[in-house]
Amino acid sequence: MARKSKQKQAVLRVLNGTTSHPTAKWIYEEVRQEIPDISLGTVYRNLKLLKCEGKILELDFTTLGRFDGNIYNHYHFRCERCGGMFDVDEPVDKLMDDRVAQKTGFKVTHHRLEFRGLCKDCQSETH
Ligand SMILES: [Zn+2]
Ligand SMILES: [Zn+2]
Repeated sequence: MARKSKQKQAVLRVLNGTTSHPTAKWIYEEVRQEIPDISLGTVYRNLKLLKCEGKILELDFTTLGRFDGNIYNHYHFRCERCGGMFDVDEPVDKLMDDRVAQKTGFKVTHHRLEFRGLCKDCQSETH
C-alpha cells in the first residue's frame, strides 16, 4: 500500500476504534505507535481528507476540534467538568428539522445537539 494511503487508513482505524471523540493530538499519539515517524501535520491533513470524503465528522461546535468516526447524525453529551464527550443513544428528532424549515423557510438538512452537565465519573467525585 502507498505510504500516503497507509497513513490515512491508520488515522481512520484509530478514530473508528474509539468512542471518545478524540482530538487530533490524541489520534496522533495513537497512530504514532503504528507509524512512528508520522507528524501531527500529516494527521491533520488526513483528518481533513477523511472529512471531505464523508468518512468522519469534525465536531466543530466544540473548541477543541474533536473528531468522530460515527458519521450518522447522533446527539452528544459533553461533561462540563472533565470535557468528556459521549454519544447519547437518543433518536434524532427529524420533526424538529421540519418545524424549523416551516418556520424559517430555510432548507434544513440536519441539526446538531449537545447536552451539557456532569458525566457519571464526575458526579461521583462530588460525593
Ligand atoms: Zn466528567
Ligand atoms: Zn459521537
